[in-house]
Amino acid sequence: MELKNCPQCGKVFARISRDLCPDCIAQEDEIIKQIQQYLDEHHNATITDISEGTGIPTDKIIVLLQEGRLITRENSGLLKCERCGKSIPRGRFCSECSTTLSKLFSSSREDSKQKVYVREYHKKLK
Ligand SMILES: [Zn+2]
Ligand SMILES: [Zn+2]
Repeated sequence: MELKNCPQCGKVFARISRDLCPDCIAQEDEIIKQIQQYLDEHHNATITDISEGTGIPTDKIIVLLQEGRLITRENSGLLKCERCGKSIPRGRFCSECSTTLSKLFSSSREDSKQKVYVREYHKKLK
């Protein structure tokens, strides 16, 4: 059995499946229930609306959405791709952007080499 400190409340607990102690998991389940209830009553609510209606910080709502713990209706538009703003069901980026980003990431070294080359080239032209 693995003992851990709960990142949320600092209590030591035996880790089972999640990195939160049972108390915090229960608390989080309660939060998720509250949000879902709010969404049932307010179909077009934004994250800000939910936060104001339930008292749960927007950061927390976003994390729950990103982690896929808070499941909303398809195309609820609550969570947006951080790159293009398209609405996504979970995560931080839409599928197209994550593909683009992973490509960019793997070629970023090549890119910087190319930029240096272009700069040198322009210097020569002057
Ligand atoms: Zn805890
Ligand atoms: Zn995107």
